[in-house]
Amino acid sequence: MDESRGLRCGFSHFWSNLRPRLDPTESLPAPQKMDPPENLPASEDISRWGWNPQNPDWAKGLRERWIPGEKAAHKALDDFLDRKLINYATDRDRLDSLSFSTLSPYLHAGEITSKHIVRQTLLKLYSHPELQAGGEKFLSEIGWREFSRHLLIHFPQMIHTPFQNKFSRFPWKNNPVLIAAWKSGKTGYPVIDAIMRQLWETGFISNRARMITASFLSKDLLVDWKEGAGWFWNTLVDWDQANNTVSWQWVSGMGVDAAPYFRIYNPVLQGEKFDPNGLYVRHWVPEIRNLPDHLIHRPWEAPEDLLRKSGITLGENYPFPIVDHQKSRQEALFLFHALGKNKSEDGSLA
Ligand SMILES: Cc1cc2nc3c(=O)[nH]c(=O)nc-3n(C[C@H](O)[C@H](O)[C@H](O)COP(=O)(O)OP(=O)(O)OC[C@H]3O[C@@H](n4cnc5c(N)ncnc54)[C@H](O)[C@@H]3O)c2cc1C
Repeated sequence: MDESRGLRCGFSHFWSNLRPRLDPTESLPAPQKMDPPENLPASEDISRWGWNPQNPDWAKGLRERWIPGEKAAHKALDDFLDRKLINYATDRDRLDSLSFSTLSPYLHAGEITSKHIVRQTLLKLYSHPELQAGGEKFLSEIGWREFSRHLLIHFPQMIHTPFQNKFSRFPWKNNPVLIAAWKSGKTGYPVIDAIMRQLWETGFISNRARMITASFLSKDLLVDWKEGAGWFWNTLVDWDQANNTVSWQWVSGMGVDAAPYFRIYNPVLQGEKFDPNGLYVRHWVPEIRNLPDHLIHRPWEAPEDLLRKSGITLGENYPFPIVDHQKSRQEALFLFHALGKNKSEDGSLA
């Protein structure tokens, strides 16, 4: 993507320009009345589209988890600002607690606007200066949303092509068995399995969860990021072309503001850091719930008798890890380095 050459297009430049311009002015009032068109087009009967799955009813978890609509969107914002903003900066990455806003599905569906969210957050900060750290972090995340939109408007090719040109030649492996294990939460890495099962059941996972599992797919399994982006499209209730594309490229190290490609998340250490007592994993991967905390993210290290007592037979009721993280990390680094050496060939930015 040669247009990108020389552009100062990183998020920090974007945000340092945008942040001082944020102000709490009110949005325009909603129109009192909207005239319908004179002739309404013939309508489909939406119930005939078969969007209410029965057998199996895979949408049950979605119905139980989400209340759509503007009222629920504004309630989610108020709850977040009143109760969670205080710890947002420190706790938003925890997998075992809901320390973020869950506003993304409402934003995506247009049931609340980022302008309104910014206004309410700024007003909260004026009256509660103790919320400054959480407030600034939260505003910057809204900034990432706007940044992703700007990127996609200026570089629409990003949907299909890495922002950094050289990575279009990356030799993905795309092993269908590994892809199926990732999608169904059967990789043998408890934190990855918990994340993928939560995604399927509820249509939502936190930002940290998205980063861990996207890194695992693209860097441990060497599967093309577009495959993962496509699965998120199928499963997320907040699926959004701009946020999804830009974030997948960021995690796989091919985008703007790239997490350097050598930063490869270790699924065990990420689990231990952000789910230290294994609460999240035990909820979503109940077959290993009896393991003690220090082994819950690494069941293959448990002694045979402990596995037996915990009701686990690896390879039968819970898989062995489908890849060895240390080995796949080395392979990914080797492949990324090989492309890095050729950088002068195509003149791309990185
Ligand atoms: C691989 C990957 C795929 C993603 N796909 C999507 C997607 O399809 N749809 C989507 O809305 N977000 C996506 N995100 C961004 C982010 O993970 C979600 O917006 C966030 O987790 C939604 O939860 P929340 O509303 O509680 O976020 P909060 O932490 O409460 O943040 C508030 C809002 O800020 C915005 N935001 C937060 N983090 C980001 C980010 N990293 N990039 C852009 N905007 C952000 C969202 O609009 C979010 O609703 C993706 C991130 C990754 C790493």
